Amino acid sequence: MPYYHIWTIGCQMNKADSERIGSYLEQIGYQSSPGAEEAEIIVLNSCVVRQSAENRVINKLNSLKALKRRQNPILALTGCIVDSRVDELKRRFPHVDLFFGPQAFFELSRFLANRHLVPEGLEPDLLLSSPSPSTFVPIIQGCDNFCSYCIVPYRRGRERSRPMEEILCEVEGLAARGVKEVTLLGQNVDSYGHDLPTRPDLADLLGELNRIEGLERIRFLTSHPKDMSERLIEAMAHLEKVCEHLSLPLQAGDDDILRAMRRGYTVEHYRELIECIRCVLPHVALSTDVIVGFPGESEEQFQRTYDLLSELGFDTVHVAAYSPRPGTIASRRLEDDVPAEEKRRRLEMVESLQEGIATEINRKLSGQTVEILVEGRKKGKWQGRTGTNKLVFFSDEADRLGELVKVKVEKTSPWALQGRLA
Ligand code: SAM
Ligand code: SF4
Repeated sequence: MPYYHIWTIGCQMNKADSERIGSYLEQIGYQSSPGAEEAEIIVLNSCVVRQSAENRVINKLNSLKALKRRQNPILALTGCIVDSRVDELKRRFPHVDLFFGPQAFFELSRFLANRHLVPEGLEPDLLLSSPSPSTFVPIIQGCDNFCSYCIVPYRRGRERSRPMEEILCEVEGLAARGVKEVTLLGQNVDSYGHDLPTRPDLADLLGELNRIEGLERIRFLTSHPKDMSERLIEAMAHLEKVCEHLSLPLQAGDDDILRAMRRGYTVEHYRELIECIRCVLPHVALSTDVIVGFPGESEEQFQRTYDLLSELGFDTVHVAAYSPRPGTIASRRLEDDVPAEEKRRRLEMVESLQEGIATEINRKLSGQTVEILVEGRKKGKWQGRTGTNKLVFFSDEADRLGELVKVKVEKTSPWALQGRLA
């Protein structure tokens, strides 16, 4: 069987797209290879959210020039880098055979069909394929928010919700094929449905998905603090398949910085929201995103973010150093005036604070029995996640893939739990 290779960076959306592309290529007769060297089809799935990510994509493209000359694999580029600048990309990287935008899978399948690489009579449905017990399902594309630092609305366009019937049909199909868990994806899932004729919301969608036979767990990300409704929090509490895990980016713990970021909420609003969530869902696990070194961020302002993280005690914090992105409001109007070393120092401070917090949160799970969905094997152990999204490893000779099992936690770290079957 010939090989394909997919290289992915960036957000869950990109991981979801790559999963679908891989599954499609497997249906038309290719198998995954760990490296690009052996592959006959190479897909690069790009991210441009930070300059460092864009640089990695450019380096990767350049590094594949020699391989393309030597072995002439098909080279395709997708993800956020493929936008209106595609003509410039074509000029710069003539060794790339195909450029296709995020989720424009049909362009890949049409390209391969034109090259007679798709077996006759086979019209694999990309949207319905899934290789794993847990999979991603995009529900809303794009973003209308225009946070001042963020390039996403420029690259992924305005919000477009997928019709509810289409999502239900897809998830029913997935469940029928053995998928136990779906993660609904969107840059701002809380605004799901506002652009659809009957204006359903995320709580409505969760209610319908909760009824699907065979499906055991439902997650969703990312939520926006200004749009998260009480109705949604209540729905989480009442729908037994919806996991007690929320991704709610804070970005900064200072009101002036939040205003300059155009986030649309204050620290007080965020704090009250967390209180409300924890009151209704006492076992909820919370993750957040933070940017350090935003233009003009003083030591005191950073300290407020640090103190708020310490006060609220998140399960996971994704911290990034501010990176000016061309075309965004911040890059046009604000000077990137926090020195790189200072950004790094603040980033490391947040990382080490969070390591301590996660150590404490996870330590409390020691000796407890948790339920996990087994997603795969790593280094000779089974791995899966709890409903609260904690990564758990355990050993067992039997094939446990796709099973919901109970594991007694014996060892904890800030990043994962180890245990044995209970
Ligand atoms: N929609 C989500 C939200 O509202 O936060 C997240 C989407 S964004 C693509 C993912 C994360 O990348 C953000 O939460 C932010 O922390 C980070 N990010 C986005 N733009 C950035 C920039 N210019 N510099 C540094 N980090 C950035
Ligand atoms: Fe970017 Fe803000 Fe939209 Fe998130 S909500 S994707 S940070 S513009």
